[in-house]
Amino acid sequence: MAIHSSIPDCLSPDLVINNGKIITVDKDFSFAEAVAVKGGKIVAVGKEGEIEALRGARTRTLDLKGRVLMPGINDSHMHLAWAIVSVPPWQLDLSYPKVKSIGDMRGLVKEAVLKAAPGEWIVGAGWDQGVIEELAADIARVPGRADLDDISPDNPVWLREFSYHTSFCNTRALEAAGLTKDVPDPAGGVYHRGPGGELDGYLVETANAAIELARPQYAMDQLIEAFHANVGNLGKYGITSCTTASERPRDVNLFSRVYRDALGRDSRFPIRVNMMLLWSDYSIGGACKEIKAALKEVGTATNFGNEWLKIGGIKLFGDGIPPTRTAWLYDPYPDGTCGGLVVPGDTVEEKLEELGRVVDICHDNGYQLAVHATGDRAVDETVRAMARALARDPWDARHYVVHGDFVSEETMELMGRHGIAIATQAELKHVLTDDSIARLGEDVAGNQWPLKQLLDHGVTVCNSSDAPCASPDWRPGMQAAIARESLSGVVSGPHQSLSVEEAIRSYTINGAWLEHMEDVKGSVEAGKYADFCVIGRDITAIDPHGIHDTPIHMTIVGGHVVYSDGVLEIEQ
Ligand SMILES: [Zn+2]
Repeated sequence: MAIHSSIPDCLSPDLVINNGKIITVDKDFSFAEAVAVKGGKIVAVGKEGEIEALRGARTRTLDLKGRVLMPGINDSHMHLAWAIVSVPPWQLDLSYPKVKSIGDMRGLVKEAVLKAAPGEWIVGAGWDQGVIEELAADIARVPGRADLDDISPDNPVWLREFSYHTSFCNTRALEAAGLTKDVPDPAGGVYHRGPGGELDGYLVETANAAIELARPQYAMDQLIEAFHANVGNLGKYGITSCTTASERPRDVNLFSRVYRDALGRDSRFPIRVNMMLLWSDYSIGGACKEIKAALKEVGTATNFGNEWLKIGGIKLFGDGIPPTRTAWLYDPYPDGTCGGLVVPGDTVEEKLEELGRVVDICHDNGYQLAVHATGDRAVDETVRAMARALARDPWDARHYVVHGDFVSEETMELMGRHGIAIATQAELKHVLTDDSIARLGEDVAGNQWPLKQLLDHGVTVCNSSDAPCASPDWRPGMQAAIARESLSGVVSGPHQSLSVEEAIRSYTINGAWLEHMEDVKGSVEAGKYADFCVIGRDITAIDPHGIHDTPIHMTIVGGHVVYSDGVLEIEQ
């Protein structure tokens, strides 16, 4: 029997990972050969021989067989409570390339109607107006109830666009929500209307709230079931941590329940969850009064929780998105509108005051704040409000802009100066660039998502999926952050390309920093949690075009395997 080392068994590592390349993502972006793990944490990182010397009789081995280990992906903006009920059979998948036309959607709805109980709601999401044939052929056309009523006269149908900012529904759904031609448009939204003023079933921004509130809510037991059934969709992509945004009180309840249940069963929690809360009636806006009232009751703030489940802060909506012309811009869209803030208020001034008030309330109550802002004007005003609060009362808040499609140079400087970060989705650069070039021209499109320039200004750039608005798969996003290629292959704004190191950081350590957790996760360093993603190619060395289909072999959270494709195995 070989004596492996002089270290007593109780102190030796549980697991040694070797025979591969370790992308540590430490300060120097160094590479290592092996890692030792004990009690869910990394105890050593180094050369093969150094780590081998720590081995005890009970130490198990993960032989990487030449594969590559990197820190687990930290997705810095997604919606976990939505994502778990946004896959079939919970709702219809209307995403491209499955759905390329309204005709395709009709086909899927027809099938669902056949299976549905009388009066049962049929919901779906994922259609993308940029690729829907009928909408591309006629830019004035919007989908509406006329597209659905003949195929679903009795079941309410509600089909949301991939970003969830617009949707269309049938007459039954409008009736269920009590919406008639007399209803005024809500603040920050539009009930689209036909020539006679009657609602046509196309809903923009806050107008979705009425339908959301009218449809039956899932019971807590159903949500728990959906969590267990679908959280694995994240592990499959190497995601070990996520910031989940726009979580309502009920969602906090859900995560707390599954977390407590996991502890009670002595089973493992599959992912580290950082919650950005939403405490207003509906996802858009963030009425001051409601947030103020909720904060008074809660009595906790940013960083309450533990390494598995914690309160990150509060997420608010500033504006909408460019494809639906709801992003707030300085220069008008071709139809003459400029979008606007979706916070309450009758005038721009009133809305700006409200935004400032909400930022102050969160900031003063010890909450980190994330604000959805896509248009240049919305980003400018959001950052100004955050910077004012930070200048008045500085603390390590790490407030941030979510999305940040267009950012002015002046605003980048302000962000750098006040430690205001950005959580963006690099994959959109790939998906939306052809459309952006057509609508905005090459120069403007080239500076959309100016990630390199943000880094140059000292802004922490964090990448994310925004699931379920997109797939949680980080690989196409990382490739897009580096290559900045459109769907048709146009390279747009190469001066804004990230290096592979910067791109990897944006999906790992920077996300950990955004969660105030860079000391305990986000890189492969001794003392940090053993959260890893094992991939099949050395993405630091290959042509970036090979990133999007790099195999993901294994995902490890706190030293435990939560996903494996079966290629590698931990040996006893
Ligand atoms: Zn989002």
